Amino acid sequence: MKALTPEIMVTAMQTCDSSYDGKFYVGVHSTGIYCLPSCKARTPLLKNVRFYATREEAIAAGLRGCRRCRSNRYPDILPEWVKQVIAFMRENRTERLTERILAEIAGVDITTIRRHFKTRLGMTPLAFNRKQRLAHARRLIESGLDCLSAGFECGYESSSGFRAAFTKEYGLPPGRVYAR
Ligand SMILES: [Zn+2]
Repeated sequence: MKALTPEIMVTAMQTCDSSYDGKFYVGVHSTGIYCLPSCKARTPLLKNVRFYATREEAIAAGLRGCRRCRSNRYPDILPEWVKQVIAFMRENRTERLTERILAEIAGVDITTIRRHFKTRLGMTPLAFNRKQRLAHARRLIESGLDCLSAGFECGYESSSGFRAAFTKEYGLPPGRVYAR
């Protein structure tokens, strides 16, 4: 793919070229919507269009996702390896995962994984793993398990480490979460 220039982006948008999906976003300021380049909705007047490198920038500019091309739905445009990594992380949500394991699963280097997680999920892969472990620990406590065992089940080796991480995530210590 050639470097993105305004001309290339305009052509990609006008020809609904799906190979550019995720590479940039088309902001349509007359309607307040951002679209994927491949969106089949009527081609907007160029004077109302602004291009954005990321979805976050389009959102920051006050635009909403498009119902037609589902530009706000990342999973539809995630590369295959990201789906594999996320599926693996979901299956192993109680494990403390390392970046090395994730790089092996993905088959891409860890810098690429970090970048994708940052831009698409807004956090690093290890932060995502931590969030999942804490959410699982919370569910265990809510189903009646004691805090110590719940933390241990979810990869925390010390109760103080678990309490600190849990409190930071939920704004209350695990001992204040009650079984439902
Ligand atoms: Zn659209």
